[in-house]
Amino acid sequence: MNQHPHAWQSLTNGKIYVKNIFKALAEVDPSNADAYGQAEAAYLGELDSLDTWVKAQFARIPEQKRRMITSHDAFGYLGDTYGVQILSPTGVSTASEPSAGGVKKLIRQINQEKITAVFVENISDRRMIEQIARESKVRVEGELYSDALSTKNGPASTYITMFRSNVDKIVAAMNQ
Ligand SMILES: [Zn+2]
Repeated sequence: MNQHPHAWQSLTNGKIYVKNIFKALAEVDPSNADAYGQAEAAYLGELDSLDTWVKAQFARIPEQKRRMITSHDAFGYLGDTYGVQILSPTGVSTASEPSAGGVKKLIRQINQEKITAVFVENISDRRMIEQIARESKVRVEGELYSDALSTKNGPASTYITMFRSNVDKIVAAMNQ
């Protein structure tokens, strides 16, 4: 589950990347090392605040509800860092639209596991989404930002807004 390209979904890892980036900048441009040091400290401070906020969001959710189903196997790091259990959907692959039987399996899984946070980005058929909502009483959510940021004017144009936007969506879905 914890493939390397998704490691930035933990702020603990994000902070290590930030330190490495600023270290490299100061090495190639030593005359501005002080300015890089100040920028680094400010940005790490922002990430610390964000980390505190994320922990507070998940801490308010009972452990039983702190679970999600996602078709994109990208959130193992987030799960490990913030105590969220991540499950893969049954009956649905990331490759193609699910069949009617696949959707039935997913509904059974949602009901059996009592999970309300369901992010299955590859179902585009409205009728299937509505069927899941009807038969499981769970609203299937769209995409979380996992591998890349949004466009410049989108809701996740920076690392910080990406993280905040994902956590907002996940927490809202868990609170359904
Ligand atoms: Zn990915």
